[in-house]
Amino acid sequence: MLDDRRIAYYSMEIGLSSEIPTYSGGLGVLAGDTIRSAADLKLPMVVVTLLHRKGYFYQKLDEQGWQQEEPVRWVVEDYLEPLPARTTVEICGRTVHLGVWKRDVVGESGHVVPVYLLTADLPENTEWDRALTDYLYGGDKFYRFCQEVILGIGGVRMLRELGYQSIERFHMNEGHAALLSMELLDEFMKQEGLKSITLEAIEAVRQKCVFTTHTPVPAGHDQFPLDMVQSVLGRKELLEIKEIFQWDDCLNMTYLALNLSHYVNGVAKKHAEVSSHLFARYTIDSITNGVHAATFVSEPFSELFDQFIPGWRSDNTSLRYAESIPKLEIWQAHHAAKDALVQYVNRTYNAGMDVDVFTIGFARRAASYKRADLFFYDIDRLRRIAKEVGLFQVIYSGKAHPHDQGGKELIHRIFEAAGKLKNDVRVVYLQNYDMHIARMLVSGVDIWLNTPQPPLEASGTSGMKAALNGIPSLSVLDGWWIEGCIEGVTGWAIDSFQKNESVVRDPRDYSHDASLLYDKLEKVTLQLFYQDREKYLNIMRHCIAINGSFFNTERMMHEYVLKAYFL
Ligand SMILES: *Cc1c(COP(=O)(O)O)cnc(C)c1O
Repeated sequence: MLDDRRIAYYSMEIGLSSEIPTYSGGLGVLAGDTIRSAADLKLPMVVVTLLHRKGYFYQKLDEQGWQQEEPVRWVVEDYLEPLPARTTVEICGRTVHLGVWKRDVVGESGHVVPVYLLTADLPENTEWDRALTDYLYGGDKFYRFCQEVILGIGGVRMLRELGYQSIERFHMNEGHAALLSMELLDEFMKQEGLKSITLEAIEAVRQKCVFTTHTPVPAGHDQFPLDMVQSVLGRKELLEIKEIFQWDDCLNMTYLALNLSHYVNGVAKKHAEVSSHLFARYTIDSITNGVHAATFVSEPFSELFDQFIPGWRSDNTSLRYAESIPKLEIWQAHHAAKDALVQYVNRTYNAGMDVDVFTIGFARRAASYKRADLFFYDIDRLRRIAKEVGLFQVIYSGKAHPHDQGGKELIHRIFEAAGKLKNDVRVVYLQNYDMHIARMLVSGVDIWLNTPQPPLEASGTSGMKAALNGIPSLSVLDGWWIEGCIEGVTGWAIDSFQKNESVVRDPRDYSHDASLLYDKLEKVTLQLFYQDREKYLNIMRHCIAINGSFFNTERMMHEYVLKAYFL
């Protein structure tokens, strides 16, 4: 084993590929894209996550759009390689044995970033303990905390077991992995023969840790009651250091990570600003998210780029030259990608979609703040627009968390709206959103819609995937879109907070944002698409050249290397 690795990246979920169901949404796909770009850039990185044998869940939707969840069935051996290494963690006074599987992520030039997936599913463990790594975001708070013990503490021990002794940076992708900092403290104390935690120990750990926070939604920040922490970890002496381990009588994983990291960032400029208010005692920098270009560019556009911008896969900045690709070629590539999507949707859902009709795409986790149903606020107006301005069709997709009743109702409401519109506008909801469907969707529609409740969208990444495929966004100004939107050049803003406006609106009131959305759709987007195709194609090129060349994980990793890993 070559001990040449300097960076260890920890994430509870990772989108390694569509077939490996160890991710739920944006956070995991970003982790996967991060690793793919790290491999392309030949970074000395290793990765740790959990092996979720039952995945997140397989989504089925009934006729009314109510979600049913099933465990994902997949053959682990087909995708991962078992390794003999073993380690243990203590949970509630029991020893839980951990095994590990590996998946190599291979970069453009053959550089490998190994991903280690921990499992508690070993015969040495009790039935209950064996199930600890089964479900991503499954079970209750207690189950989650046990998982975080395995990821953070078990994850450091396993890397040592595998022979990695030279790690200089431990990157926590979200707070789930924050317990790794506790294990690093322990390591330091043992090494130095310290009996209690000193400032020097804390500083040594801080130098090693990097933390990326991903959401301004309070539910996104894990907190565990101290008595639960106490009974799982049995570590009285640690928890007594209130400044580091406690917050409102809880162990707050975000504060733990904030306290023990030398570099902290949010995932877009606006998000860093919002996080700096949320965590006022800390310095929070920003590194805006990206997506892995080669993973999300459709087949037809990949071929087009190969022809006009050779080398684009390992030099994403060169996508700026898309500006000189002839418009006809852009149209042909887009048409081919759209055709593939429309055929898929018609074949699978008998949706009756038409490849020549303006197609709107919306897909992301069905969380309430994403407001997936905002588009259907005024059914009559939608009917009128379709009849009088230009026909359109809509494709949706996305899963709700099994415990998120609000999210499930969101999906149901979209089905209801689709029913009401069925004689005028075709609407289809694709089941079981995954990376494969994402790639098809973000390349096959004509516009990418996003309507989150500001300022709750930390970044958002699917609009970036669309941009790489020449597809403009029509989006609320929040997250990455504040940086990516040049009005009428890369897409259009639904500007929730217009200048000089002093009204404070109820976030549940959709009327304002919906009417701004309809105005843009009616007066700008549809007009351009049907009446001024040349101009629409110009916009498509700008999406690739201006946004695709920037909002990618290659540029993002350059920033992590400079700002977080090697300084
Ligand atoms: C990109 C992606 C997401 C994240 O989309 P957002 O726009 O960031 O919400 C979620 N799920 C899948 C399958 C994706 O590919």
